[in-house]
Amino acid sequence: MTVAAQWTVESVRAALKAKKVSARELTGEFYARIEKQNPRLNAFLALSPERAYAQADSLDARIARGEPLPPLAGVPAAIKDVISTRGVRSTCGSRILENYVPPYDATAVERLERAGAILLGKTNCDEFAMGSSTENSAYGPVRNPVAPDRVPGGSSGGSAAAVAAGLAVATLGTDTGGSIRQPGALCGIPAIMPTYGRVSRYGLIAFASSLDRIGPFACSVRDAAAVMAVIAGRDPSDSTSAEVPVPNYLAEIEAPVKGLRVGIPREYFAEGMDPAVRQKVEAGIELLKRLGCQPVDLRMPHTDYAIATYYIIATAEASSNLARYDGVRYGLRVAGATLLEMYKKTRGRGFGPEVKRRIMLGTYALSTGYYEAYYLKAQRVRTLIARDFSEAFTRVDAIVTPTSPIPAFKLGERTADPLQMYLADIYTVTGSLAGVPGISVPCGKTAEGLPVGLQIFGPPFGEVRVLQLAYAFEQAGGGNV
Ligand code: GLN
Repeated sequence: MTVAAQWTVESVRAALKAKKVSARELTGEFYARIEKQNPRLNAFLALSPERAYAQADSLDARIARGEPLPPLAGVPAAIKDVISTRGVRSTCGSRILENYVPPYDATAVERLERAGAILLGKTNCDEFAMGSSTENSAYGPVRNPVAPDRVPGGSSGGSAAAVAAGLAVATLGTDTGGSIRQPGALCGIPAIMPTYGRVSRYGLIAFASSLDRIGPFACSVRDAAAVMAVIAGRDPSDSTSAEVPVPNYLAEIEAPVKGLRVGIPREYFAEGMDPAVRQKVEAGIELLKRLGCQPVDLRMPHTDYAIATYYIIATAEASSNLARYDGVRYGLRVAGATLLEMYKKTRGRGFGPEVKRRIMLGTYALSTGYYEAYYLKAQRVRTLIARDFSEAFTRVDAIVTPTSPIPAFKLGERTADPLQMYLADIYTVTGSLAGVPGISVPCGKTAEGLPVGLQIFGPPFGEVRVLQLAYAFEQAGGGNV
């Protein structure tokens, strides 16, 4: 068996078809890599070898019979632990779901598997996807494969690290305020947040339902598009999934980008950005110009309010969504003399400090007397932020910004100050509030070798536009600007 160092969706298919490797051998190869590297990286929380080998064997049988191969045939994949997987423990990075085994699959998982992907296991994340560094996981932090003394970003840090370290060809993460794009940037791989409603949330364990989205990480824009093509589309089990036809992402990805107008919002280039990030993102914009894109100076005046707005809406929704963990219905139960005591002990022991902080913040923002001042006000500002985007998209085809103001930081560097951690999301939460799609694509490295990400936003359901730009950027050497 000859094993390429870096597999892609296409090379896996081709190797299987040519019988250079079997799906079983490939699965074994990835588990060997995980066994070797995961003790150090902590990217995986659970492995699902039975499920993976069963899928591999059924693929091998199909290949032996000469049947056509589905689009993700044999692709070793992994799933963020906030996404439900039938029969495979799904903890959300929390003690409160330590022993929770879902009885059903999320739609995105079911679609991946139906398309031939091999589910290797579940990836580590911040508890209930709350965080920007994966240090809020109850099961220990993930290390960034590029710089192991640093965080991989978060909250989907395990999914990003698994791909960056070659422990999976593609993974699913979730993005509520940046949790796909920011770890993609910090680990140096493409990562897509689809339009709200583009990918079914059925089986995604909720953090903030009006913001949560599922999307892919992969080693190339093309591979990320291949995964998008499989998971996108209406799902009757999620009433917020949109009835909008899914274009053929792979067929359209190579369309020329010459003449496209890319908006550069001034507000994203104000103070606070690391100079090395600024330099790379400016070089990235130069590269887009060389590709024939036309930069357009933009104003998005409500950008400054995005972090405050996001942290009110996200915590309000979280406080409501997390009320279900009461020791009765799911996971952990800590006995108490009365029902109330049981609730208190279960939640007190089951939730970590960041989750508790958010439940308190959100409950406060929703309480009588403060509802109008905080929650309602935040909803109004959310509308203004969304309007900044819709107005911008009357003038431009896409919006280009940095993904994160800073490259990967050292483990422990920001844990003492939640506000510092929240500021890591400054460029990503805007698009989350507006519901638009966004990608982070590698945009050079700092002098220390830390990856920088370029964020490209598109209009609602404009994933094709975003993918075309990211693909052209990547092909033109964007990863090394
Ligand atoms: N870092 C942001 C937060 O902590 C975003 C998290 C996410 O997108 N899941 O809420």
